[in-house]
Amino acid sequence: MADTCTSRTVSILGATGSVGESTLDLVRRGNGAFAVEAVTANTRVGALAKLAREVGARFAAIGDPDLYDDLKSALSGTGIECGAGESALDEAAERPAEWVMAAIVGAAGLSPTLRAVRRGAIVALANKETLVCAGDIFMEEVRRFNSTVLPVDSEHNAIHQVFEFDRIEAVEKLILTASGGPFLEASMEVMRAATPEQAVAHPNWNMGAKISVDSATMMNKGLELIEAGHLFPVGEDKIDVVVHPESIIHSMVAYCDGSVLAQLGAPDMRTPIAYTLAWPSRMAGPSPRLDLIQIGNLSFYQTDLERFPALRVARDCIKSGGQAPLVMNGANEVAVQGFLDGAIGFLDIVAVVEESLDAMGSGTVDCLADVADIDRETRQFAETFVAARAR
Ligand code: NAD
Ligand code: MG
Repeated sequence: MADTCTSRTVSILGATGSVGESTLDLVRRGNGAFAVEAVTANTRVGALAKLAREVGARFAAIGDPDLYDDLKSALSGTGIECGAGESALDEAAERPAEWVMAAIVGAAGLSPTLRAVRRGAIVALANKETLVCAGDIFMEEVRRFNSTVLPVDSEHNAIHQVFEFDRIEAVEKLILTASGGPFLEASMEVMRAATPEQAVAHPNWNMGAKISVDSATMMNKGLELIEAGHLFPVGEDKIDVVVHPESIIHSMVAYCDGSVLAQLGAPDMRTPIAYTLAWPSRMAGPSPRLDLIQIGNLSFYQTDLERFPALRVARDCIKSGGQAPLVMNGANEVAVQGFLDGAIGFLDIVAVVEESLDAMGSGTVDCLADVADIDRETRQFAETFVAARAR
């Protein structure tokens, strides 16, 4: 690929997902610039084996331990090593790739992502739930092991591109943009009756089911507020959210002299991923180019906290600190799954999160064992609240 100043070994955790696929697209276009060490998936053995063969990965890991034999036979004769279960996902992250894409969805990504951090890899972080669940511990490990974390989430990637890390006191505000999702204009009645199909039909981005539902409730922006607070520690009161339905400005940083720096681009995850893949250099990327004349106008609105209470819940969790963000995340994962399974309604998602936060009370998170315990207990509560609301 033209202008690629980089050739590096890469591993892709969550290779069969939406971010994983976009990453692989860039790797393939690199024409050999990137050597693939490891790839992982959760259950899709066939897809994992196919892409492992195609990119010549050295190791493939499947999350479901029952699928080991299937993966082994799908890879027989290729020389590609393989494993199954959580330990195999960890092993994939530990294998010696310079650059690791962390694109597993949910808290399941925490352990493997930490393994990559602890060997000092460059970690391209898509898995925002990792920072929401264990942000303080995670960032401490990043410092301790001298790892480099590059945000893939488009908003945080935009901020990373214009953030003056050595002049943090000059930052007046971070302005996270939000598309508003498919229900930006919808009434409460429409949202109450919303189906999973409607909720995952995002107007601008093509993403996995969980993050698509999070975008529809705007819990995604709540998770991103918490994510931003860990990556760019300016304080919660300095992080604003602005609805920007065109998803062209991916976020902004306002400085004390009145300057506001933004990063713009077509809504295509291959742009932020390419930024992380070539960092600190730049590489040519295939995303559609911005045609500002054709776009014509960009619009901005305030968020409606009545219809999108998730943002308020997330801000409250940041202020409460301790276990609150971890509880919010675990309950949200359970509630979103309940909604996707047809058990609960769309508006029940945030209600289950609030019920779980109440039930769990307050507490601190001092170590990774605490993260696991609190996450487990939260999920048990959330399951009972989902069951109580089941239709
Ligand atoms: P996805 O559902 O399309 O893919 C998820 C990947 O994780 C798949 O490869 C799947 O096999 C794997 N996986 C799922 N559950 C697992 C488990 N329990 N153990 C091991 N592996 C598991 O999701 P996505 O849209 O690619 O999102 C991935 C992450 O990136 C999420 O944290 C999401 O919030 C974040 N993100 C995604 C986008 C996007 O455009 N899709 C943008 C910003 C951030
Ligand atoms: Mg985002």
